[in-house]
Amino acid sequence: MAPSKRINKETVCMLAPQILDWCMMTYSGYTTDISIEIDYCKKPKTKDYALYDFTDRNITVMYNVSNTPKKLITAIIHEYTHSLQNHGWYYRYHNLVGYWNNPYELAARKKESEWIECYNDIFKSNIK
Ligand SMILES: [Zn+2]
Repeated sequence: MAPSKRINKETVCMLAPQILDWCMMTYSGYTTDISIEIDYCKKPKTKDYALYDFTDRNITVMYNVSNTPKKLITAIIHEYTHSLQNHGWYYRYHNLVGYWNNPYELAARKKESEWIECYNDIFKSNIK
């Protein structure tokens, strides 16, 4: 499956837990007590590909925007990175410098570039 191939909701729901597993294995090695759920939501008018809820420890994937393997992996890596960050500091930074320059957002955006490693790991052994 090419990284930019359009995927439907069913495929998003099949891939998302595998991507989350990959993130846990790669970024925390299952050493931390992490439980994250993934929800799926249709948001036609938002630019957000996904959201992370610090309180519920929940990633919501907008399946109609995160609709290619690359976008889905990028979105989940981004939100997973937030799950490793400090809730209180996220909002302190936000109040100081806003969303775009929040150091936690910068860190999450930087991590997105690692999508190709996840893509290779999942797709070389998985679906064609
Ligand atoms: Zn973010």
